[in-house]
Amino acid sequence: MQALLSWGRLRAAVLPDLCLLCDSTAGCVPNLCADCVRALPRLDRQSRNRVVAFSYGAPISTLIHWMKFEANLAAALSLGVLLADRVCGETGMRLPDAIIPVPLHRDRLRSRGFNQAVELARPLSRRLQRPLLTGACLRNRATQPQSVLVSRADRRRNVAGAFSLCKPLPGLRYVAIVDDVLTTGATAWELARTLRAAGIEQVVIWACAGRPHGPP
Ligand SMILES: [Zn+2]
Repeated sequence: MQALLSWGRLRAAVLPDLCLLCDSTAGCVPNLCADCVRALPRLDRQSRNRVVAFSYGAPISTLIHWMKFEANLAAALSLGVLLADRVCGETGMRLPDAIIPVPLHRDRLRSRGFNQAVELARPLSRRLQRPLLTGACLRNRATQPQSVLVSRADRRRNVAGAFSLCKPLPGLRYVAIVDDVLTTGATAWELARTLRAAGIEQVVIWACAGRPHGPP
């Protein structure tokens, strides 16, 4: 499995115009063909403050796994463009003043080599022409992966007080938080709570994948 995934990453680097999922010619989304994009499990908009683009299942979960655990930045670019397409396709969406990716703890960042939320947010920042604030917030402690915790209460406890602002954010009233996966949403909502406590009036959460129904 490891060898196959590594080959996939190498192939994406050498043959960037082929679809990561089926090896057909890639189309308007980088590294994905039109048929594979059409077949993705899209979700309807969930609420005013939350846009989750896709249901967490194959092949979205596969692309996310490649991005996070195989350092496949071709998959990160594909997912980022898909999320940007989705957000930009929302009608009546008020543009935020800035985009803030969910920060990783420094130990996780060091071991992974990149923050997947930053990679997902780059196409959004370019498309919406809004600043990407990668150094605005800090994850103070190494929380457990939310995926290993079963109950909603445990997930909330795991991230309670996990974030802080690195500096004041004057002039920002409305920001978008970007994350890769939103399950219960505890992580993103804890960051939103931190931002609101610092005076940000409105926070919207944009995520690549999650459950059809979740917290508003
Ligand atoms: Zn394909």
